[in-house]
Amino acid sequence: MAKKVVILGAGYAGLVCALKLNKLATTQDAEIILVNKHDYHQLITQLHEPAVGAKKQEDITISLNSILGSKPIKFIKDTVVSINKEAQTVELEHSTLSYDYLVVALGSDTEFFGIPGLKEYSFTMKSVNQANRIREHIEKCFQNYNKEKRDSMLTFVVGGAGFSGIELVGELADKLPELTAKYNVPKDKVKIYSVEAAPSIMPGFDPELVEFSKKSLEDRGVKFLIGMPVVQVEPGVVHLKNGDTINTDTMIWTGGVRGVKQVIDAGFETEPRGRAKLDEHLRALGHTNVWIIGDASFYLNPEGRPYPPTAQISVQMGDLAADNIYASIKHLKLESFEPHLYGAVASLGRKVAVANLSPKFKPKGWVAYRIKDASKWRYLSTIGALFKK
Ligand code: NAD
Repeated sequence: MAKKVVILGAGYAGLVCALKLNKLATTQDAEIILVNKHDYHQLITQLHEPAVGAKKQEDITISLNSILGSKPIKFIKDTVVSINKEAQTVELEHSTLSYDYLVVALGSDTEFFGIPGLKEYSFTMKSVNQANRIREHIEKCFQNYNKEKRDSMLTFVVGGAGFSGIELVGELADKLPELTAKYNVPKDKVKIYSVEAAPSIMPGFDPELVEFSKKSLEDRGVKFLIGMPVVQVEPGVVHLKNGDTINTDTMIWTGGVRGVKQVIDAGFETEPRGRAKLDEHLRALGHTNVWIIGDASFYLNPEGRPYPPTAQISVQMGDLAADNIYASIKHLKLESFEPHLYGAVASLGRKVAVANLSPKFKPKGWVAYRIKDASKWRYLSTIGALFKK
């Protein structure tokens, strides 16, 4: 009888896993069920673009039906509430599923570090819906400025200058001048702050590329407050560690990620930020039939550091999880996770990016931007969505 494989989440990891398993297994081997909150797949690496209105929702989402087509993958549009690993069931908002094999690929939650008011009074950017909310809000600030004339309406604060924060700040720097012209708003009133607690923006990234990124963004008007933790947020006010405050109607938090509630609540072994610990085959520790992949997971590289929660790692985890589920069904040897790392690329707006691809190849500017774009198209081809956009 076919084994029931339930895959939770159709992000990079879950979708790739479902598609690969479908390639490997026949319907006699596996019944594949894919659960996702929305009926579309989101290119979350591009969220900063719709967040400022540089792209539309349809540019960064792809209908799951169009990707799955007539493949024997059953898609259920529903939200995962909880996992009962003892009973081997998953509670969805509208039904309960049982499984023989489970893949948890539910992404990550935002880490607020317990900072007072941060969760309540800031925007986050983890889904296309949240990106749309940010865009609508920014547009309203510009639209209403000439009526209300509050400076905080044109002051934009991005908390956290990791890759998410920097990519967003880059888009803001390119988009806000357009809104200034559109709504006839005084240019000198528009302020973009990037606030970072660590001694440098993009902590851990190549120092030469960090310097280039900082200068490129400063040249377009971004003000950096570095080594300056956000310590509290109140409606309209961001408090910094040195006692300074910024009056703003727009605080966007990109200060970090943590594991998802469903994994923590289910009692899987996690590290302090709630990401699941895995064995070398990407299975949850102590479980031979549960794979936890993508941003929800915590897997150490040979130097003992966790692989970053990036799309390239998620895709490779999805691929290997499918191989190992198939191997488990067929009683074959399981493979270990040894990802190929292609380096990191961060965009700094519409035409500029920085890429750390190897010690000798660190392109910046337009070339790096094209490389980032090419990786998006290569991914779309992997999921068979190249011509579905
Ligand atoms: P992150 O954890 O990488 O960065 C968060 C930043 O917020 C850090 O620099 C941290 O020092 C700062 N911060 C934390 N608390 C703060 C405070 N109180 N005040 C001010 N700053 C504070 O998170 P991210 O940028 O969302 O990225 C998450 C993961 O996704 C990373 O591994 C990143 O590399 C990856 N990512 C990759 C890309 C890409 O490859 N282009 C894009 C986005 C994210």
